[in-house]
Formats: sequence, structure tokens, C-alpha cells
Amino acid sequence: MEGAARGEARCVTVIAGDGIGPEVVSAARRVVEATGVALTWEVCEAGERVFARGLPSGVPQETLDSIQRTRVVLKGPLATPIGSGQKSANVTLRKLFETFGNVRPIREMPGVATPFSGRGIDLVVVRENVEDLYAGIEHLQTPGVAQCLKIMSRKGCDKIVRLAFEIAVAEGRRRVHCATKANIMKLTEGMMKRAFDDIALEYPTIEARHILVDNCAHQLVRSPETFDVLVTSNMNGDILSDLTSGLIGGLGFAPGANIGADIAMFEAVHGSAPDIAGRNVANPTALILSAAMMLRHTGALDAARAVEDATLATLEQGVHTADVRAEGSISTTAFTDAVIENLGRHATTTRAREHREVRMPRLSPARDYVRAERRRTAGVDVFIEAASSPEELGQSLERIAEDTAFRLKMISNRGTKVYPAVSAATDCVDHWRCRFVLRDAAPEREVDLAILALVARVALQHRWMHLEKLLEIDGVEAFTKAQGED
Ligand code: NAD
Repeated sequence: MEGAARGEARCVTVIAGDGIGPEVVSAARRVVEATGVALTWEVCEAGERVFARGLPSGVPQETLDSIQRTRVVLKGPLATPIGSGQKSANVTLRKLFETFGNVRPIREMPGVATPFSGRGIDLVVVRENVEDLYAGIEHLQTPGVAQCLKIMSRKGCDKIVRLAFEIAVAEGRRRVHCATKANIMKLTEGMMKRAFDDIALEYPTIEARHILVDNCAHQLVRSPETFDVLVTSNMNGDILSDLTSGLIGGLGFAPGANIGADIAMFEAVHGSAPDIAGRNVANPTALILSAAMMLRHTGALDAARAVEDATLATLEQGVHTADVRAEGSISTTAFTDAVIENLGRHATTTRAREHREVRMPRLSPARDYVRAERRRTAGVDVFIEAASSPEELGQSLERIAEDTAFRLKMISNRGTKVYPAVSAATDCVDHWRCRFVLRDAAPEREVDLAILALVARVALQHRWMHLEKLLEIDGVEAFTKAQGED
């Protein structure tokens, strides 16, 4: 670690990262330092080299301690091994510090010609950053069937939706789109839609529009200029923000911030780009603009504006790295020199946006953020591994449940009802969701014990791997039906 805080200077944790990380982080540091802002760096490690030392999280304790101290991070991309057991060090950092909001502004860059040039693209993707499929809770349930749990909380939805509206207010934006797949995933994605519908009422001057995420991808390409703020869940946001980067010239131009109540980490949207690493050709714009967001976050507003204006001016002059054009392009370091040279200038066609401080959402810290008046267990889904036919399995389970508190209502295979038979077309695998419903209402404690007794009987004949209670919360079914289930 180097660079302990001196006097009044703000201290920032800096992580060079993997691949092109060291090149673009160095560029951003040089530009920030050239503004003369009072800032010192604590240089920390995370990513590939840490994995290689055998630390499975990829993030050493010294780095975590530094972030706790400084509360502000400038980081390069961290490579994640694909398919092996190691978790993403990025996701670990985001989750450990509860940086729930991933803010990714996208605007047309002067001097960077794209098929969308002149359309005035200027939007910000606000992506939920810690929940959803990226909670990373996965299980191989049979040797050939895997599951990933999509966890979304009402509190998480409220936080990200409020942040999106607050960003709209702070930046003088007029419209917030919420992109979900609520038509299919009614309880998870639907929760974000419900949060959006409710919270939008508190911001009557901002136009609120829900859009299905697939159509959102379509509309972002057809008419990107109609988007202003776009709030969405973690995986949707991951994909859509790479798409929006593509609209303005590519990942080299897309900055980002991971924001939490106390800690913020600034990084580009792009990854470690191993295909161009170590060649001094990467475009540092995204990380330089991320550093500008960091400066703004720390209150260094003039320095932030100077960095943004100098970067836009440089691009407008036609100074470009190889991702923009191969002929006449310049190196990462030469581009950085040009930005430093341009500090104090601004582009003729566009200026850095006006920003006011974003009011961070402060929600109740209660763990039971949503409370129910009434709840009842209506049954249980027992997940079973079996190579048999739906008919054989169904008849076996009917016999097992015969004199229990439950009856077998149906069996589904990958979400489609297959017993009692609906159609013969389902290409069944060895993973069955067997839905048992309570015959007669009973006290909750008795229902719990009856479930355990049922599972004990099932276990004598079948391999089960997972249980899910079927709840009714405040009189409403808290589970979805299978495709084809009545
Ligand atoms: P990537 O973003 O690294 O690269 C995608 C493409 O864009 C490549 O062709 C690359 O050369 C190009 N590109 C990216 N940034 C560029 C830049 N600044 N200048 C010029 N060209 C640039 O995506 P990937 O290849 O899918 O991922 C590589 C690694 O990065 C993976 O290990 C992945 O897990 C990791 N990753 C990390 C982060 C992060 O740290 N936040 C984000 C995304 C991916």
C-alpha cells in the first residue's frame, strides 16, 4: 500500500485491476492529478493475481480495510475465471460494501461517429447491483440440471427505484423508464414494477414509464434518444448497459459508479479486455470519465467538470484510440497526454452536464421491511430427481400421499405441467417439481410437521433435493402456477 493521507487531502483506494486495468487506471490517475485536486491514493490489489495466490474471493483483507477507511474507490476491471469455482471479485466488492446502485451514464461523444450520431443520446442506466441472479446462489440439483435463485427484495427494489428518481431530479431529467420482465417473472421482476408504480407517484413532475425489457432493448436501438433514466434489475442492467455503450461508440466510452449509502466505487462498464491488454491501445475515456464521477462524488466539482470538458474536447479534436478508428489512432498514453493538455478547455459542441447532489434514499433498516398480517401454508413443492416417466412418478406419489394431510396436485418439468398429462410434447429431464396441497386447513405447526412426515415417506422411495413451501400471504397466493396448471 502506498500514499497515506496527507493533511486535508482526500484519500481514495485505487485498484489497478487486470488486463487493460493498469493502463486505463494509470491514465485516469494522471488526469486527476493534473487537475491539482487535493487527493492521495491507497494502492490496493484485487483480481487475477490475488486468485493466483490462492485467495478464492480475489479480494485481500488489506483492500477491504482500505475501502472501509477511504469509502471511495477508483478501480480497474477485474477478470473473472469462467466456469470454475471462483466468484467474481467485482461482485464480491459490490456486495460486501452494499453498493446497491450501479449508475452508468451514456451520452453521444463529440467527434466519435456512430450510426446514431446526431440523435442526441443522453441517458443514464441505473442498475440494481447486489440482488437478482447475481446473488450467485446456484445448485446443481441433479447431475444434469442446475438452478440459480433469482432473489429480489422489495427493499432492494425500492432503493434502486428511488435512486433512479433522485438521479432524475439531481440531473434535471424528465423521464424514468423501468425495464422489467414482469409479464413472465411476476413475483421477482413484478416486484420491481410494483415498487416503480408506487414510488413514481411521489415524483409527479417526472414522467414514469414501465417497459418490458425485451422491447426496451429494441427501443434502445430504434429510438435511443427517447430514454432519459432507465432503471432495471441486475442482469437486465448488465446487458442493457453494454448495449447502450455500443450506441455511442463502444465500451471504451462508458463510465460507471457503484453507489451505496456510505461507500462508492467508480469503474468503467468494460471488462479487462484481455485481447488488447498490455499494448497501450485501450481507450481510457471510460475510466477517465469514471474518475470525473468520483471527483464529483467527493465534492471536487470544478475538477470533475474540468476532466469531463477536457475529455470531450479531446474527442472533438479527432484524437482517438484504435477502438474508434485504426488509421491515425493514438496510444492510451498519448490520448491521456492530450486530455491533460486540454484541461481548462471544453468542446465547442457540448459541455459537461450540470449536476446537483443526489439525495440518497434512506429506507427503514428493519429486516422485516415488508410485514404480513396473515400467512398460511397451503402446501409444498417437493423437488425430486427421477429417471421415470411422469405417469410412473405421479402414480407413485399419489400412493405415498394417500393417507397424509396432502394430495398431489400436479407435477411439472422445468415449469411445464406434465402430470396429470396435458400434452406429450414436453422433453422431460430427471428434475421434477411435485406440488402437494393441503387437504384441510390445519394449524401452522401441524402443517409443518405434516410436511416433514410427507417428505420422510417420499424419501423412502425417491431422491428428493429441495423443498419449497407454498404460502398464502395476506390471503394472496405467494407462488406461481406451472405452465398448464389450473
Ligand atoms: P470486455 O469489456 O473486457 O471486452 C469486450 C470487448 O470490448 C473486447 O473486444 C475489448 O477489447 C473491447 N474493449 C473493452 N474495453 C475497451 C477499452 N477501454 N478500449 C478498447 N476496447 C475495449 O468484456 P469480456 O471480454 O466479456 O470480459 C473480459 C473479462 O473482464 C472477463 O473476465 C469478465 O469477467 C471481466 N469483466 C469485468 C468487469 C468489471 O471489472 N467491472 C466488467 C465486465 C467484464
